[in-house]
Amino acid sequence: MKQRLGRNQGGYRGERIEIHEVLKEIHELAHQSGWEMQKVCGHHDLIINAYVRSSCTNPLNVYFSSGIHGDEPAGPLALLEMFRQQLWPMDKNLWIVPCLNPVGCILGTRQNGQGIDLNRDYRQLLARETVSHIQWLKDCPRFHYSALLHEDWEANGFYLYELNAVDECSVSKAIIQSVGQVCPIQEDGQVDDWHSSAGIIRPSIVPQQRLDWPEALFLLQEKTHRNYTLEAPSDFELSLRIASHLAAVRTLLLNSPC
Ligand SMILES: [Zn+2]
Repeated sequence: MKQRLGRNQGGYRGERIEIHEVLKEIHELAHQSGWEMQKVCGHHDLIINAYVRSSCTNPLNVYFSSGIHGDEPAGPLALLEMFRQQLWPMDKNLWIVPCLNPVGCILGTRQNGQGIDLNRDYRQLLARETVSHIQWLKDCPRFHYSALLHEDWEANGFYLYELNAVDECSVSKAIIQSVGQVCPIQEDGQVDDWHSSAGIIRPSIVPQQRLDWPEALFLLQEKTHRNYTLEAPSDFELSLRIASHLAAVRTLLLNSPC
């Protein structure tokens, strides 16, 4: 059903996921297909894993993350589906963090267990999750591009934010085109502080002027010149939101920017 369900009143009111089950299955599938597991955070009460796989043929480094907001289940489920269907290409070097906020995912909250929105904490570094993640990222090479899987409970369709610090090279239109086959695209107009046009927002942000860095701004500042933040509309059926993220991720991997 490609229309709003009308459940999201004042926030996300849709399905919750058993994040431990999702992460366990990703871990097993990744292990079976030769991925290296790296610990992003190994506290006894806070485990965050990353999965890394290198290609012998291509030097392109690509990073994906999801689950930084615990009330956005389609992202981790889409990454699980990438592993289930063996859709990760062999010709890229891949760094995948399936869930950056496991406690928030258990609680079903946007914030972590201490009430911190991790996606505003990449400059102030108040949360263990963010501190550990940045420490791990420092040991990673630079990425050719990165993509972060999110959901928006208010959206009427899929849209994305593109941050590109270097060139006009963009796969945003290709992403929107392929997602449009399976999911409505956000209509033109205002989304938070930005203007969305054909499902694409290109924010003009000077990172140094902001204190509340999201993950995307940290990545743009330190690790990559190109970031795509993918936003599925969480008032739609979960299967449709997963399909929209799958289409976006696959298009990005097939049409690597430049
Ligand atoms: Zn989000």
